[in-house]
Amino acid sequence: MSADFRQFAPCASVDPEAMFPNPKNQAGVVLAKRICDPCEFRSQCLDLALAPDTRSEFGVFGGLSEHERRALARRRGRRTRHSMAA
Ligand code: SF4
Repeated sequence: MSADFRQFAPCASVDPEAMFPNPKNQAGVVLAKRICDPCEFRSQCLDLALAPDTRSEFGVFGGLSEHERRALARRRGRRTRHSMAA
């Protein structure tokens, strides 16, 4: 999976630092998420940020903060384990 789409995304026209706010800076996180709001690539971006080989540990990607992505990955992992056990 390639991240080429990001060059056409809203985040490409802002200071890259804006997408990597300190997670304790809620205003910065909200601002970064607002940049993602109108992005047509959110779903692709989130998948890429969660995939094991392209995982993005830090920053806002796909409209989710790093904490939100970790929580989502944990939920998805639990769901996968449950479905494999069924
Ligand atoms: S979802 Fe956000 S981080 Fe991902 S490509 Fe779009 S604007 Fe950039």
